[in-house]
Amino acid sequence: MFVITMVAMTEFNKIQSMVKEKGIASRDCEYHTQRNIEGGKGKIRILALKADKIAHVEYICPHCQKYGYDEYPWKRPFSFKCKNCDKKISVPKLKEQFKREQKKANKAAEA
Ligand SMILES: [Zn+2]
Repeated sequence: MFVITMVAMTEFNKIQSMVKEKGIASRDCEYHTQRNIEGGKGKIRILALKADKIAHVEYICPHCQKYGYDEYPWKRPFSFKCKNCDKKISVPKLKEQFKREQKKANKAAEA
């Protein structure tokens, strides 16, 4: 477990180094997110570029705790399978959650 965590920590920078190397700015991105998933059991970073519509996905699987990196055609909603344990990993739709919270906030403001 300890060894896996160490590897994960050192390896979770593939997308970051790609961003640096290619000088990718936020305007070049169709979608870019980094967040914890499944209550912090896993971690995910997705970067989809406008230019090629390819999603670069880097993750710590919430099921097997292993690190993985892969590329997929970008689509929404986005989900993929862990390379190591073959379980499905889906990305929570933050935008919808955000909208709901906004609505609530607006209602509170009106009241
Ligand atoms: Zn897995």
